[in-house]
Amino acid sequence: MKIFSDALELKTYLKAITKSIGFVPTMGALHDGHLSLIKAAKKECEFVVVSIFVNPTQFLEGEDLQKYPSNNEADKRVCTYAGVDVLFLPKAEDIYESDEITLIAPPIRGYVLEGATRPGHFNGVLTVVNKLFNIVNPDYAYFGKKDAQQLHLIALMVKQLFMSVKIVPIDTVREIDGLALSSRNIYLSKEEHKEALKISRSLYEASNMLRSGELEVQKIKEVMKKILEPLEIGYIEILNYEFEVIDEIEIGNTIILVEVIVGKTRLLDNIWL
Ligand code: AMP
Repeated sequence: MKIFSDALELKTYLKAITKSIGFVPTMGALHDGHLSLIKAAKKECEFVVVSIFVNPTQFLEGEDLQKYPSNNEADKRVCTYAGVDVLFLPKAEDIYESDEITLIAPPIRGYVLEGATRPGHFNGVLTVVNKLFNIVNPDYAYFGKKDAQQLHLIALMVKQLFMSVKIVPIDTVREIDGLALSSRNIYLSKEEHKEALKISRSLYEASNMLRSGELEVQKIKEVMKKILEPLEIGYIEILNYEFEVIDEIEIGNTIILVEVIVGKTRLLDNIWL
């Protein structure tokens, strides 16, 4: 596995690669969720690039940028075992200049849910993904459905900017107990982890209700709220795949999204129906 930190060096190196390139952008502290993206890339592409970059522009003032979990040595081992061809490990100054011209703003759909509590977050995400795509020039790029709004906005950017990369969504990987894997789970105490299981439980109950014929959004939200009590709920939202609000669930075109604050940790989860 080759490791690069310089963007232009990597770009030059990859230009000579004639194989199909699969790209997995991450912020590191790799877990089995990341690994399932890498495995999908390995399956579909002849050459796989993973990036690890804790992107400062997507963190707001007071968020966990400084203490975001990081373990480059373990991550390098994971990537080597997974058969990654190139690992891109840039520093902030390898990606950003002090006087940046690039500013990508999402449409209104980027200012609800995550974008409402974290205004500017998706500007940072879209900007860095755009830069990374320009460096790697991948044929396929892999993103987790767990970050559904991020996935939606990136797919929108690719379509609207006529980029040629194909975005591949990957199902959420969970612990055996149901908790969606996340680098931030490390912040949870044992007790908080137990409390956090209410999140997946609420989503499973919602999908059970659907199976028994309940299609009304309000009723499903009420039941989920009860299960989540007394946790602080950021939002429970039921949207279609275009991220539009709906009154009634349409199987094959509905996402139920939850944000819950457990202790000091904001956890996201969702289910695609
Ligand atoms: P992150 O390092 O948190 O920025 O995540 C990098 C990529 O991994 C994103 O596309 C995430 O959506 C994806 N990802 C994170 N957690 C999971 C998970 N539990 N299952 C599947 N994909 C995930």
